[in-house]
Amino acid sequence: MQDYDIIIVGAGIAGTSLAYELANIEHSPYKKICILEQEYAPGYHATGRSAAFWSQTYGGPDIEPLTSASGEFLRNPPKKFYDGSFLNNRGALNIARTNQTHLITDMIDNFSDNAVELQSVKESYIDSLLPNRNNDWNYAIWEPGCSDIDVAALHYAYMSNAKKLEVDIKCSCTFDSAFYDNGRWTINTPKQSYRAQILVNAAGAWARDVALKSNVKPIDIKPFRRTMVELELDQDISINMPLIIALDGSFYFKVMGRNHIWLSPHDEIACDAADVAPEEIDIAIAIDRFQNIVDWKIKRIVRKWAGLRSFSKDRLPVIGYDVRQPNYFFYVGQGGFGIQTSPAAAKIAAQILNKKPVADNLSHIDINKYSPNRF
Ligand SMILES: Cc1cc2nc3c(=O)[nH]c(=O)nc-3n(C[C@H](O)[C@H](O)[C@H](O)COP(=O)(O)OP(=O)(O)OC[C@H]3O[C@@H](n4cnc5c(N)ncnc54)[C@H](O)[C@@H]3O)c2cc1C
Repeated sequence: MQDYDIIIVGAGIAGTSLAYELANIEHSPYKKICILEQEYAPGYHATGRSAAFWSQTYGGPDIEPLTSASGEFLRNPPKKFYDGSFLNNRGALNIARTNQTHLITDMIDNFSDNAVELQSVKESYIDSLLPNRNNDWNYAIWEPGCSDIDVAALHYAYMSNAKKLEVDIKCSCTFDSAFYDNGRWTINTPKQSYRAQILVNAAGAWARDVALKSNVKPIDIKPFRRTMVELELDQDISINMPLIIALDGSFYFKVMGRNHIWLSPHDEIACDAADVAPEEIDIAIAIDRFQNIVDWKIKRIVRKWAGLRSFSKDRLPVIGYDVRQPNYFFYVGQGGFGIQTSPAAAKIAAQILNKKPVADNLSHIDINKYSPNRF
């Protein structure tokens, strides 16, 4: 039976970033690390299906510190980790209708204590970024820092750098059950069993299932489906156009290349953890909302997809040891912000797992907000 210090269930952005950070800690007692991933391709369910943006306001004021603290690593990663940047600045226009000005005030108020650059902008400014709008979307907050994330490159960099640090990543290897006895876990997969000192649940939408199968009281993490569609338009659009995001939560879209856009109806539909697909009705809703704001002609639907976003009850991530089982670690509930927060969140998780104080540059983050103890 192969024996590890730590076994992580799930090779999405959560599991792989945590594995890298753990393996990268000098003088750590946990050097033998393994990730078990049920799919052939890591990132198949949520990580590989994201809308790929980094927005300091997305997820709310309690997520912002994790997002902001991740910005520098994503913008300028250490050269030996990745030779380039994972971010490409785009800006975001958070827009509202004439009868929704309270949403503008709410957003400014919500982030008044956070270090985010936000500007309430005039109609003429909105015209310059989103010309020929239909009807009354005339109020907006400009968020200049919002950027695209190269998610595939980031996820791959975490995996390849973890492998260089001798992390084993075992794909097509489903975690079936785990038992804790005599200070060690026995972890069963269909092909073979493993042993480990610490078991980490980074199973995304399957977090609850994996906890139950480990005989650990599960944290209430629920998966929700989010729909995306790529459209080809009949006209060219400026590729410098920002992310356009409705403050009432009814849609967002961004231009991808000359005449393609990625559009979402910003849906959040409770579902089971599974290989989800988009529903026709949600695509239709997305297109209808899109046509309500701009009169750009749609040539065709290029592709459509849906993915899982998994939330805890208070919509904050869960990072820390289980309250009752001291060798069981939760790293779940990454919601709609798991990519943009991954560098800082994984560093914090690795330090908590190592029972070390959080590094100075992250010490301003109130980690108690993310602790499993809060449930
Ligand atoms: C449409 C959409 C748009 C999004 N847009 C953004 C965005 O713009 N920016 C952003 O930051 N975030 C975004 N997100 C959220 C982001 O994708 C997630 O927060 C993040 O990917 C979650 O990562 P994860 O590793 O927890 O989950 P996952 O990527 O789902 O990884 C969990 C892994 O665990 C594996 N697993 C589960 N059970 C088992 C088992 N029994 N045995 C072995 N393996 C198992 C699964 O197969 C899976 O690969 C978006 C999500 C969606 C769906």
